[in-house]
Amino acid sequence: MSKKLLLKNIDVEGIKTFEVFRKHGGYSAAEKAFKMTPDEILEEVKISGLRGRGGAGFPTGLKWSFLAKPEGVPRYLVVNADESEPGTFKDRYLMEYIPHQLIEGILISSFCLGANVSYIYIRGEYSWIPEILEYAIQEAKAHGFLGKNIKNTGYDLEIYVQRGAGAYVCGEETALLESLEGKRGNPRLKPPFPAVKGLYQCPTVVNNVETIAAIPAIISITGAEYAKMGVGRSTGTKLISACGNLNRPGVYEIDFNLSIEEFIYSEEYCGGIPKGKKLKACIPGGSSVPILPAKLLLKTANGETRLMNYESMADGGFITGTALGSGGFIVLDEDQCIVRHTMTLARFYNHESCGQCTPCREGTGWMYRILKKIEEGRGTYDDIDLLWNIQSKIDGNTICPLGDAASWPVAAAIRHFRDEFQWHINNPECLTKNYGIAEYA
Ligand code: NAD
Ligand code: SF4
Repeated sequence: MSKKLLLKNIDVEGIKTFEVFRKHGGYSAAEKAFKMTPDEILEEVKISGLRGRGGAGFPTGLKWSFLAKPEGVPRYLVVNADESEPGTFKDRYLMEYIPHQLIEGILISSFCLGANVSYIYIRGEYSWIPEILEYAIQEAKAHGFLGKNIKNTGYDLEIYVQRGAGAYVCGEETALLESLEGKRGNPRLKPPFPAVKGLYQCPTVVNNVETIAAIPAIISITGAEYAKMGVGRSTGTKLISACGNLNRPGVYEIDFNLSIEEFIYSEEYCGGIPKGKKLKACIPGGSSVPILPAKLLLKTANGETRLMNYESMADGGFITGTALGSGGFIVLDEDQCIVRHTMTLARFYNHESCGQCTPCREGTGWMYRILKKIEEGRGTYDDIDLLWNIQSKIDGNTICPLGDAASWPVAAAIRHFRDEFQWHINNPECLTKNYGIAEYA
């Protein structure tokens, strides 16, 4: 049940190889796409309603249609495989176990966009995966699906894999492009968007791995059929990487009408919380999206069942809602300390800030130090107000979303768990019994 489009063949023995992938229908979507015009492919992607699976959920067809096409200037497709959002590991799963699906997606997408060179920018920590991708690229080339005059279409495509060096900020698309150009990965001001000035100042589409890996399925079944699989503006299926206090953490392909409750508790998915502990809170879309306490997670503020889709997750805005984000689903049971958890995230964002903007550079460190003070039993009630004040000065005032991503977890933790911050100030011993979860200086 939980393997539908992207993971349909994931358990087939040898699916990593060209031969087995091909036997199971691999590259037939590319063959179909070569009989279509680029405009027809774009139309299918638009009709599918596919939204960017990296976190922002921007409509893919719309992004592709923004690509500038000046005469004589190359265009690029860059696949963002920098998957660094804490709690997110679904792109790794796709690249590691079914790499040809991504290669086929790149082939169709690049053909549609008129790109003859495409890059996969992969995070440095995924040190064993470039080899898997490079092997798949060589296999595809050997079978005429990459290189010059692909399948006698007159179309040429080369794909290169570029490793990052372990900076979270390089997952931000313009920092990624800077890094790909060989420079320090500092985010650029937008606009101009990469669709107009991207890699080497040329028009570039940057898409997440899962987004591009969905393209063959869309071409195979048609955009209209893909759109029917969803709910409203959440079309198709989504990969969720589930972790934290769960009996069955892992990567799942979900329907957008699945309830969060079923996802956490049913045996088909996460199988509930270990030792029968109570659900305390969850960050459902990677560490950057607001944490929700159990009561707002399972039901919206209006009492409706909360579903695993873009709209339902966002119901209530950031006051009583959250976001589907990258699909990094982090579950916390009743034993977890929200102050400690928030401090760990603040430390992460502080470490990863590139330092270009004052609110992010200074504010992330300041928030970490205050959270550490509260966590260690040296906090005061004024510290909670100061934390709130600092996060509000970062939010919306920086070049890239890392600043927002650092402020939102702090804001949501205070909004929903102020009483726990106060409790921690009055009771210096941390709730979290497991001190091994995060080392900090
Ligand atoms: P964004 O909303 O600014 O942009 C989304 C995409 O749409 C970008 O590619 C952008 O270029 C494009 N776009 C938007 N408006 C455009 C326009 N007018 N013209 C042309 N293109 C336009 O979001 P973002 O900065 O790309 O991403 C932020 C998200 O990344 C967050 O939601 C977070 O969840 C996620 N994230 C994911 C990871 C991960 O590991 N997957 C890591 C960090 C953050
Ligand atoms: Fe760098 Fe932070 Fe500014 Fe992003 S928000 S550009 S990470 S300082």
